[in-house]
Amino acid sequence: MKIVRYRDPAGRDHYGAEQADGSVRRIAGDIFGDYQVTPDKAAVAKLLAPVVPTQILGVGLNYRHHAKESGMKVPELPVLFVKGLNTLQNPGDPIEIPTHLASQEVDYECELAVVIGRPCKNVSRDRAMEYVLGFTCANDVSARDWQIKLGGGQWCRGKFFDTFCPLGPRLVTPDEIPKPNALKIATHLNGVTVQDWTTSDMIFDIPRIIEFLSGSTTLLPGTVILTGTPHGVGMAAKPVPRWLKPGDVVTIEIEGIGQLTNPVIAEPTRS
Ligand code: MG
Repeated sequence: MKIVRYRDPAGRDHYGAEQADGSVRRIAGDIFGDYQVTPDKAAVAKLLAPVVPTQILGVGLNYRHHAKESGMKVPELPVLFVKGLNTLQNPGDPIEIPTHLASQEVDYECELAVVIGRPCKNVSRDRAMEYVLGFTCANDVSARDWQIKLGGGQWCRGKFFDTFCPLGPRLVTPDEIPKPNALKIATHLNGVTVQDWTTSDMIFDIPRIIEFLSGSTTLLPGTVILTGTPHGVGMAAKPVPRWLKPGDVVTIEIEGIGQLTNPVIAEPTRS
C-alpha cells in the first residue's frame, strides 16, 4: 500500500491510501494501530510529509563510496545522530538556507527513510523488518560549516535547522518493497543528476541498522530513520563544492517510492 498524508480544502489533515490511478481514499483510524481504507475519495488540497515523526534518527557515513569521498574511515558500527522534529518539511515546501545563524555551505543528501510501525527494542536483524511500517524518500539537508567546523565535534547543529528534513511524497509498505537494499537512489539538482547509486552500497543494511538502534533503546512508533546517503554530495564536488542556493530545486528519487521535490529559498527575515 502507498500511504499519503494530506490537507483537505477545509484545512484538516488526514492519512490516505493512494490508488493505482493516482486517486486517494481517506484512511479512518490510526496507521500505527487499527485503520481502514474508506471508500471516500479524498479531496487533496496539499500533500504533507507522509508521517508525523515521533523522532528522527540519522545514520551517517553508511555508504562505502560516500565514506571514501568524505575522506572518512568506513565505520565499524553505525554512526548515530539526531534531527529535531522542527526539521520536518512537506513535499513541495521550501528548504530554507539559514540566514540568522547563517550557513554558507548547505548540502543535499538523498536517503531512504524507514518508518517504525510499532514499539521496537532489542530486536534481532532477523525480525527487524516486522517492525517497519514503510519506506519513504528523505533529504538529510546538512549545513557542512555547522556540521564539521562549528558544531563542537558532533554533527547535530548542522543537521538541525528548520526545514532540513523533507520527507515524502508517499510511504510505501514493505510488501511492495521486499528488497529495500536493492533500490536505485538519486538526487537531481535543477534537473541535473548529482547522486545516482543503489541502496546495496550501504555498509549496514536496514535490518542491521534497526538491530543496532533498538539495542537497549525503544524505538517508538513513528520513529523515522534516515539510512545514509551515497556519494555525490555537494561537499565533495570537484573542482569546487556545489552548495545549495536560493532558486535551486532539489529532487530526491528512489525506485518504487517516487520523487520528493523541494525548492530552496533564503530563510525569511522575521521580526
Ligand atoms: Mg545523511
